[in-house]
Amino acid sequence: MSARILVVDDQAANVRLLEARLQAEYFEVCTATNGADALVLAKSEQPDLILLDVMMPGMDGYETCSRIKDDPATRHIPVVMVTALDQREDRIRGLEAGADDFLTKPIDDVAMFARVRSLLRLKEVLDELRFRESSSAMSGIAGELHDDDDLPARVIVVSPDPRATGRLAAAMPTTAISIQINDPATAIAAVRDDADLLIVDLTATDFDGLRLCARIRSDAATRQLPILAVVRPGDVKHAVRALDLGVNDIIQRPVDAGELTARARTLLRRKRYADQLRSHLDQGMEHAVTDQLTGLHNRRYISSRLRQAMDSAGNGGAPVALLLADIDHFKSINDSYGHDAGDSVLRDFSTRLQTGLRALDLAARYGGEEFVVVMPGAGMAEAGIAAERLRSSVAGAGFDLPDGTRIPVTVSIGIAQARRGESVDAFLRRADEALYAAKNAGRNQVQAADNAAA
Ligand code: GH3
Ligand code: MG
Ligand code: MG
Repeated sequence: MSARILVVDDQAANVRLLEARLQAEYFEVCTATNGADALVLAKSEQPDLILLDVMMPGMDGYETCSRIKDDPATRHIPVVMVTALDQREDRIRGLEAGADDFLTKPIDDVAMFARVRSLLRLKEVLDELRFRESSSAMSGIAGELHDDDDLPARVIVVSPDPRATGRLAAAMPTTAISIQINDPATAIAAVRDDADLLIVDLTATDFDGLRLCARIRSDAATRQLPILAVVRPGDVKHAVRALDLGVNDIIQRPVDAGELTARARTLLRRKRYADQLRSHLDQGMEHAVTDQLTGLHNRRYISSRLRQAMDSAGNGGAPVALLLADIDHFKSINDSYGHDAGDSVLRDFSTRLQTGLRALDLAARYGGEEFVVVMPGAGMAEAGIAAERLRSSVAGAGFDLPDGTRIPVTVSIGIAQARRGESVDAFLRRADEALYAAKNAGRNQVQAADNAAA
């Protein structure tokens, strides 16, 4: 995994040393010797990760980190703070400044590269989400992502030792609901059910916490769940294994409650950020495939789904039938009762259309008052039944307008079944010809296309 790393340290010798070690692992490195330069470079170079010295004259590492995390242009870049001493207060202050992780000088290579890889993997996921968000229909919302530390969170704490789970759970942020579990199987069920953070104790020998982490990472339903692992002091080997397996953060025993709280808060904040990006993305995607007035699929979506269904039919799959429906004399509804009345008829029509369909059928608003239903696996008989059901449900009961008036509405429908090797356009054209025939023959009726090979 290659990436660009910004190294910040006021001592030129330290910078050169780190630079050499990172370059030896094929990382691209840029450097700064003070906080102000670091801020400028973070913005202009957009590094994938920042290694930031804490003790610097002028703007120190905490302040630099806070500013990086306050700026929307740089807040997504992971920051690893490098502290001279393994001081608890330093770590907590750093976490509060938004640091993603810590390394203690002298820096151990194995630990450093494991941390770096783990953070880079995370950043890759977030970058992908941010990219898709910025190119989706809902772009612009990214600026509105908010950070709310007060939201409740569900934290699962797993250790074979009930006293340990109790102590770990007690250190969770006050907004968290902690669930204490003492065996892996129950833990898996609990995280699948719902969880925002998993804390796993890796210090017990008779309890395979790493296997639990691996299981959670390999299950699509829980792959995104943040995991914080507890390791024995100085147990670099376990810590590195855990990080490589996809554990997001490590804390050493004896666990400092303040540090654990701060780390948990960072992980929860990151998860909320990723969740928000994902949900905006889902909304954006929903927006792109849905008709806003009726909530049915839109033309773009149904066209691609129709192509898929025809491709699979062409490859020896099930047949595909199509139903094309157009409301009769719709223009006169608009003309007599107004556009809003027309809209309400379209919505009511959509509801009736959907009510009579099978789970497999896909209904879409194809144009103004024109609707299409793709029926995978259906032949003319099924399409005919569905069409007649729709026709009679429309003609059978009047439509209530917003002003209370009830008016009669009818619909004309053409049905067709795809021919072998037929193009999507040709198929739609035949359904449209059948619809036209239904209009010509007096409306309020169903006409079938000629399905014999051309
Ligand atoms: P026919 O029976 O031949 O289909 O006649 P028609 O009046 O239904 O067909 P025509 O295509 O002449 O008119 C369709 C009308 O639908 C014209 C257009 O203004 C209206 N329309 C299209 N989209 C909307 C919409 O979203 N809301 C409303 N209220 N009207 C729409
Ligand atoms: Mg019409
Ligand atoms: Mg029309």
